[in-house]
Amino acid sequence: MFVCGNQACGASWEPDEVQIRDEGQGLVFRCPQCGARNHVVARTAKDGSTTYRQVPAGAAQKAPAK
Ligand SMILES: [Zn+2]
Repeated sequence: MFVCGNQACGASWEPDEVQIRDEGQGLVFRCPQCGARNHVVARTAKDGSTTYRQVPAGAAQKAPAK
């Protein structure tokens, strides 16, 4: 389940209720209710299926140092 990071919204969504897209800064879904962008990361399982995990708000900018 995903939770909108917009504190004024905070709606929760099932993965099949949102559209996940790469908007150039990584994968995001837009909250269907308020339109806020929420970052997710893709995980590919051994059987080839892809699942998405939500990145906590604020963590997306903390890219690991090279
Ligand atoms: Zn929202």
